[in-house]
Amino acid sequence: MEVKTSLLDNMIGVGDMVLLEPLSEDSFIENLRNRFDHNEIYTYIGSVVISMNPYRALPIYTPEKVEEYRNRNFYELSPHIYALADEAYRSLRDQDKDQCILITGESGAGKTEASKLVMSYVAAVCGKGQEVNKVKEQLLQSNPVLEAFGNAKTVRNDNSSRFGKYMDIEFDFKGDPLGGVISNYLLEKSRVVKQPRGERNFHVFYQLLSGASDDTLSKSWKVAAGSNDCSKYLNNAMQIVGFMEDEVQSVLQLVAAVLKLGNIEFKPESRSNGTDESRIKDKNGWFDGRQTSLILSSVLERAFSYRTVEAKQEKVSTTLNVAQAYYARDALAKNLYSRLFSWLVTRINESIKVSLKENRVVMGVLDIYGFEIFEDNSFEQFIINYCNEKLQQIFIELTLREEQEEYVREGIEWTNIEYFNNAIICDLIENHQNGILAMLDEECLRPGTVTDETFLDKLNTICAGHKHFESRQSKNSKFLTDHSLPHNCFRIQHYAGKVLYRAEGFVDKNNDLLYRDMSQAMYKAKHSLIKQLFPEGNPAKVNLKRPPTAGFQFKASVGTLMRNLQTKNPNYIRCIKPNDKKASHIFTDTLVCHQVRYLGLMENVRVRRAGYAFRQAYEPCLERYKMLSAEWTLHCIDKVFSSGLMHVLCTSSLQLFSLEERRRQCLQDLATLIQKIYRGHK
Ligand code: ADP
Ligand code: MG
Repeated sequence: MEVKTSLLDNMIGVGDMVLLEPLSEDSFIENLRNRFDHNEIYTYIGSVVISMNPYRALPIYTPEKVEEYRNRNFYELSPHIYALADEAYRSLRDQDKDQCILITGESGAGKTEASKLVMSYVAAVCGKGQEVNKVKEQLLQSNPVLEAFGNAKTVRNDNSSRFGKYMDIEFDFKGDPLGGVISNYLLEKSRVVKQPRGERNFHVFYQLLSGASDDTLSKSWKVAAGSNDCSKYLNNAMQIVGFMEDEVQSVLQLVAAVLKLGNIEFKPESRSNGTDESRIKDKNGWFDGRQTSLILSSVLERAFSYRTVEAKQEKVSTTLNVAQAYYARDALAKNLYSRLFSWLVTRINESIKVSLKENRVVMGVLDIYGFEIFEDNSFEQFIINYCNEKLQQIFIELTLREEQEEYVREGIEWTNIEYFNNAIICDLIENHQNGILAMLDEECLRPGTVTDETFLDKLNTICAGHKHFESRQSKNSKFLTDHSLPHNCFRIQHYAGKVLYRAEGFVDKNNDLLYRDMSQAMYKAKHSLIKQLFPEGNPAKVNLKRPPTAGFQFKASVGTLMRNLQTKNPNYIRCIKPNDKKASHIFTDTLVCHQVRYLGLMENVRVRRAGYAFRQAYEPCLERYKMLSAEWTLHCIDKVFSSGLMHVLCTSSLQLFSLEERRRQCLQDLATLIQKIYRGHK
């Protein structure tokens, strides 16, 4: 067999940081830079892949590359994300081990691209045949659909994921894909009604405006439509995933309805008692048109002026002023859109779900919103950053803490390697008694006047003195804190840096309440998808119980996710952003250094270098290699003769492999194993 080592001979710098000599932060960064300058964007730390965003298309994802990496040992070729994907896929197929691909890094570092590369690699190397190809296509095409509805241009990334996504791809025992399940995590729905300066709304709005046919928009919706192929692409992807034509139309109509809602304006109308009541400005402009009337009915019109409050089995109607009407409008637009998004995920899952009950193995791919520090950080950033803390926690637990503890447990001489454990920050946020989320919930559920300020007061009282929390002393707080901070803000020292959060909006976003009149108006809509999205609007099913808060739900789903990930064999891709300008060829040392530090990469290398690069449990090792022992061979031969199995052996396919042949294979395997074990060990 031809051994392709030529690539390794031409290696730029050091492909595996474990082999870097001398090891220091400077040499680590220099190695990354040197490789990056030569278009080598991947570098290993043992089995962890560091990926630098090149911000331009490199010719390293061709079908030829796929073939090159297919069925090759991890360290055989130069570092590549395909090597990680191949290793994960093969241990899934050959050893029945569930895998997860954990991709981390800040916004714009390349996580989503990495997740797609892993998926497309696995799709290219696994199974063949019409049925299998259909499954693959559906799994792959779910990406553009969800990106259209869940991604947007931000200052950090032109295609920033504004939701978290975890996808389980399920395989049969042969390694053929059967289907999958997608879980989505908290979509940043505030973007529907408000975008930070220099940012945009979700892609689908622009795709709709630039691509939908005249009939969909101009005639029926009175929204100006352009004409290009943008939404044809989306349409196509939706059809491959399994949406019916009328479902696609229905979805696009709903997006158009959200757009229209955003344009509705209100004016005050004076009432005899001296108060102002809100009225829709230019009613006919919004409420006519064939499609529009399916959604924006007179029931909704009323819901923009009045609100029903139920107290002690009595219904009281109160009027909305203009500000309240705008608030109700925005709440409705956000709810419509985020419910549509969840519906899309459910609908895609229906298409890709696996009906077979046979044994399956699973590869989970996690692509979640990256750590964010903006000028103005709100509840959304708080949730996103909390999620990133949890992921860092898994990395620490599995690659730094457990690994070191294992050596100590096994009685191997070990000098402890220090690292920062962010468990303390996770606790600050999620502790069920006095964590920030718990206090926010307590505040949201408390009777009496609750404002963002009372929430902040509570934080100041309870978190004052926490090493990772700072806030300016607010009026009512008796605790001293940082006076240089602006009012109504608190700051958290996250693992990846300090973030200043503005308390404004926390209570509201966590409550996430929609006036009942609104859900009832939506339930009465003649548009069947919309009706379906607001089941609580059914008057027969009035439920006075409060729905769980946004923070509570998020914490619960992240908890489930973390438990799920911990049952699988982890494969890490650590994405790094080379510069802040979304530019190719620029490598900013300070920026890279910051990421290397907070990702704990130096500690990762140190633990790897001091420890063993490969481990296997005793039992499977014995099972695999016992035939190499002379005693075992004699034992086998003995058994074969004494049991009369010789005849069976000679006539079955086993005779294709003589004992000698099998021992040779076994030895070859052992040689690879020894290579793995000693690689990088001092
Ligand atoms: P994240 O998901 O971490 O926020 P993305 O994966 O969306 O970041 O990457 C941001 C942008 O960077 C992409 O839209 C793409 O332009 C570029 N990019 C990322 N990874 C690669 C890659 N491997 N090759 C080429 N361009 C990339
Ligand atoms: Mg992303």
